[in-house]
Amino acid sequence: MIDFLVVGAHPDDESVVTGLLLKAKKEGKKTGLICFTKGEAGGFATKEDRVRELKNAAELLELDYFKHLDHPDAGVEYGIEAVEELVPLLREASPQVVLTIHPDDYHPDHVAVSKTVDRAVFVAGLKKHSSDDKTWHPKQVLYFSLDPRTNSQRPDMIIDISDVYEKKLEVVGCHQSQGIAQFVELSAKQMGMLGGFEYGEGLYIRQPFRLSDINALLSQNKIGR
Ligand SMILES: [Zn+2]
Repeated sequence: MIDFLVVGAHPDDESVVTGLLLKAKKEGKKTGLICFTKGEAGGFATKEDRVRELKNAAELLELDYFKHLDHPDAGVEYGIEAVEELVPLLREASPQVVLTIHPDDYHPDHVAVSKTVDRAVFVAGLKKHSSDDKTWHPKQVLYFSLDPRTNSQRPDMIIDISDVYEKKLEVVGCHQSQGIAQFVELSAKQMGMLGGFEYGEGLYIRQPFRLSDINALLSQNKIGR
């Protein structure tokens, strides 16, 4: 069973949550990634380049579960076909926490993946939708934003990633063809500023955050700098 599963649209979408994945590995947790496209529409890189770049990133992240699907880049369709493809993968990985792209993100593929994940999470919990009565329900579904120009909300949660920041840059550096290092650095600094950390990653919640252990509240950093 995977603890944290990221579902993104393009190779490099995972970059804004690599800190969380690295922290999870440090704590002995299991992490995974499902990427919907092979990124053939992005920049000047070939499909093969982008597949290799994500494979390198996945290796550095020491992922326990990794699936690279082949939906058309810039043509991901939200629909029952994509949902049906994702449901068995979610049941197979059985993640405790699912992280995917916020539905208000700018890129249409991001929106399509976000909606597909939401529906697949719902369907994967239905007994009647399974041949062997197996169901799966995550503890939380959390969202991250890659291009917030159409998203006016600020994140609901900031993770302190200062302790894994150098390694995060190494992982992000695998996506050489995309030139995203500067964006990732700016985002980590901006999120860090929001949370009062040196470097941070922001997450959004869309359902009430579920907490059964109130000790988690006592272990938080104090507010103020
Ligand atoms: Zn993307």
